[in-house]
Amino acid sequence: MNQVRVRFAPSPTGYLHVGGARTALFNYLYARHHQGVFVLRIEDTDLARSTDASTQAILEAMKYLGLDWDEGPEKGGGYGPYFQSERLDLYRRHADKLLDSGRAYYCFCTPEELDQIRQDAVSKGRDPKYDGRCRNLTEAQQQQFINQGRKPVVRFKADYHGSTLVDDLIRGKVTFDNNQLDDFVLVKSDGMPTYNFAVVVDDALMRITHVIRGEDHLSNTPKQIQLYEAFGFAVPRFAHIPMILGPDRARLSKRHGATSVGQFQEEGYLADAMVNYLALLGWSYDDSQTLFRKAELVEKFTLAKVSKNPAVFDLPKLQWMNGVYIRELSLEQFYQQALPFFQSWGFVPQEVSPELESKVKHVLRILQERIKVLSELKEASYYFFQDQLHYDEKAVQKVLDKEGAVEILHSLLPELLAAKDYTQEKLEPIFRKAQEQHQCKLATVIQPVRVAVTGTNVSPGIYDVLAVLGRAKTCQRIKDALELIKQRQGGSASVQG
Ligand code: GLU
Repeated sequence: MNQVRVRFAPSPTGYLHVGGARTALFNYLYARHHQGVFVLRIEDTDLARSTDASTQAILEAMKYLGLDWDEGPEKGGGYGPYFQSERLDLYRRHADKLLDSGRAYYCFCTPEELDQIRQDAVSKGRDPKYDGRCRNLTEAQQQQFINQGRKPVVRFKADYHGSTLVDDLIRGKVTFDNNQLDDFVLVKSDGMPTYNFAVVVDDALMRITHVIRGEDHLSNTPKQIQLYEAFGFAVPRFAHIPMILGPDRARLSKRHGATSVGQFQEEGYLADAMVNYLALLGWSYDDSQTLFRKAELVEKFTLAKVSKNPAVFDLPKLQWMNGVYIRELSLEQFYQQALPFFQSWGFVPQEVSPELESKVKHVLRILQERIKVLSELKEASYYFFQDQLHYDEKAVQKVLDKEGAVEILHSLLPELLAAKDYTQEKLEPIFRKAQEQHQCKLATVIQPVRVAVTGTNVSPGIYDVLAVLGRAKTCQRIKDALELIKQRQGGSASVQG
C-alpha cells in the first residue's frame, strides 16, 4: 500500500476549537499509527475572514497538544506551499484545465439574476439551484458580457445523471442523487477559488490518501468526487467523523462554555489529558478503558472504532481526567507545569530562588491530590504567597463565631510561638494537648486555626499548612483572627444591646 498521507486543513478565521482539535488529533493518530505523514494546510482563501493571528493561535494550540505535523507551516515539505493563499496559480492552472476539457465554463450572471433564478425555481417547486444558463454561451455572447464590464465566475459542469457513491470508512456507503447537484462555482469573480475546488486540487496534489474530517463536510463529498473524476485524479478514501454536541444535544458552541483549545490551556488543562479526552469524542477502544496515554492511542487508534453517532462533550469528565493526569505528574513535572501560573498571578517572581522553589514544591505536594485544573491552584494556595487573607464569611460564622474558638486559639498561641520546628512531629502534640485541655474532638481544635490561617474551612492537612506558612505567619494570623472575633462580637453585642 502507498504511504498514508493525511491532512488537517483549518481555515484561520478564529481559534482552534474542540471540534477542529479532535479532527486534527484523529488525523495525527491515523498518520502515526500507519507510520504515515501528517500534513497541516492552512485554508486561508477567505481573505475577509482569515487572519495571521488566527493562524498563529491554531499553530500554538497544535503545539500545546503535541500534534506535531510533518509537512506544513514552519516545516515546509515536498508538496508546498501549505497556505492556500500562496497556491493561487495552481488553482488558476487547474481551472483552465477544466475549462479546456469542457468540464467548466464561465458564468456571467449577476447576483440579481442568480436571485431571480432561485426565486423562479422555488415558485415552480424546484430546488433553488443554478439553472446552467451560461453553460453554452458562444464566444460572441461571452465577449458581450465582458464588454458590459461583467466579471465572470468559473462554474463546474456537474454531471446530473445517476448517483455518486461515497464509500465512507466510518459512515459506510452513502449514495447521493446527482440531480441534487448544481453547477457549483470553482473560481469566484475576484479570482479566488472556492473551498470545494481548492480542497480537491490540494488534496490531489499533496497526494492525500485519506480525508478525515467532520461530518458536516459529508454533503460536499459528492461534489468533490465529481471534481476528482473530472480531473482524472485518484479519489482518496473518506472518513467523516461524528459531530460534537453539548450536554443539551445541540451542536457544541460557545454558549456551552469554553470551546477553544487555548482557553483550556489557560485554565490549566494538561495537554495529555486534553488529548486523551478528545480521543474519546467519537472513538473508543472498548467500553472499559478510559485512560490512554498518547503512545497507547497511536497504537490502538483505528477508524473502524470511530462511532457514527454524535459525541457529547462532558466537561466534568474532562475535569476528572485532568485531575488524574495531575496526580500522575512527578513533583518536578508538576512544578514545571504550575510555575507559569504562579508567575502570572504574581505569587512568584520570574527569577525563583532555591528557597522559594522548595516552598512552591511543598505547596504543590500538599495540593496535588486536591485540584483538577491548574487554575484552581490560585484560590487553593494564595494564602501561602499573599499577606491579605479574604475570610470566607460562612467559614468564619461556622467556626470562629462558635463558642470556645477564642479560648482554643488563646491556648494554642503561646505554644505555637514557642515551637521550634514547624513539623508534624512538633505540631501534633501541641494540638493534642489543647484537645485534652478543652475536652473536645481534634477537629474542634484544628478548625479555628485552619480558618485563621487560610480564611476557609477546607485546606490540606493543618500541619502541612503550618509547616509551609512557618511560625511568624501562623502566629500573626491567629492574632488577626482573635482580633476579628473580638470585633465581630463587639459588633453583635452592640446590635443586641
Ligand atoms: N477548511 C475546511 C474547514 O475548516 C476543511 C474541510 C476539509 O477538511 O475538507 O472546514
